Amino acid sequence: MRDRIKCWTEALMMIPGLSGFEGNVRRYIKAELKALGLSSRTDMLGNLIATIEGNPKLPSVMLIGHMDQLGLIVRKIEASGVIRAERVGGVPERALAAHEVLLCLGQGRTLPGIIANKSHHATTPEEKYRVVPYQELYIDCGFRSAEEAVAAGINIGTPIVYAPNVVQLAGGRIGGTSVDDRAACAIMLELARATRELRDLPTIHLVFSVLEEFNLRGAVTAAQVLQPDICIQLDLALATDTPDMGHRGDVRLGAGPVMSMFSFHGRGTLNGCIPHPALVQLFQSTADHEKITLQRSAHIGALTETSYVQLVGKGVASIDMGFPARYTHSALEVCDLADLESLTRLLVAALRRIDAGFSLDRDDYVE
Ligand SMILES: [Zn+2]
Repeated sequence: MRDRIKCWTEALMMIPGLSGFEGNVRRYIKAELKALGLSSRTDMLGNLIATIEGNPKLPSVMLIGHMDQLGLIVRKIEASGVIRAERVGGVPERALAAHEVLLCLGQGRTLPGIIANKSHHATTPEEKYRVVPYQELYIDCGFRSAEEAVAAGINIGTPIVYAPNVVQLAGGRIGGTSVDDRAACAIMLELARATRELRDLPTIHLVFSVLEEFNLRGAVTAAQVLQPDICIQLDLALATDTPDMGHRGDVRLGAGPVMSMFSFHGRGTLNGCIPHPALVQLFQSTADHEKITLQRSAHIGALTETSYVQLVGKGVASIDMGFPARYTHSALEVCDLADLESLTRLLVAALRRIDAGFSLDRDDYVE
């Protein structure tokens, strides 16, 4: 199982797919689903949906993993040929300079560029410890003029991503681009493989969503059509076992899947997810039964699509389940394959425990 998840994660990490431009990621996943014997459909926004029909008497489950990644988009081509870019998603400005990027020209054609970093020899003491805002950054593709850039296929609106990269670290850990959320897409492929022949499961909708890094709402259209009873979002959980993160929580990389007990984002968003108690109980009891260590997180600052999906229709019982990840939104995010595997095992086991006795009635759960 771990080898397959590794293979899918790494293959998906290498495919550029900025928010709004997820087509190549989608085509790859669609082909993998087909190879697993599953048909899938694409909605107007670009969400890829595959349904594994189950027992209609059981509550239906929608699983979400987002296909898109954050990045940049061409805002202006300077006369000199260098490129100015706008941010797409939560791009960390202090981790941008001196990185290689890929400009996506369409039809699968790409062009490399470098986010410029002022020559160190000319950097003043004040500049040394200053984060350069993205407005001041520029991308050098080697062009000598704007005309050359345009002739090469660059235009206003050309998507830009970190140059795709996979780094093999010690102990089954991998670093690189868009671990968020391609690792979850890989988990969903393994889940499809593991559940397609199981009997008496609930109906499972696998939603490979779009636009998560852009507006967190891509999966909403899928939820409106599918009207699931339960939504489980798979995404990273902040690992807090590095020297700079200890105050945020108690999530260790490699120590198992993470159940989010609370997420919130204030600044203008005013949203988050407090999971449905039935799902908290389901995952905790499943983890106990399967002897899988289940970690917990409760902090502000990071949201997923459950924030919006939970409000669809008559309401959707929602929860965020994650794999620990370090250095999130940088070009070198890190995850541990053991966590991806244990999260997959936990999900399969939890789906099997949704039976006729499983209740989503809030009044059946005493706080
Ligand atoms: Zn994500």
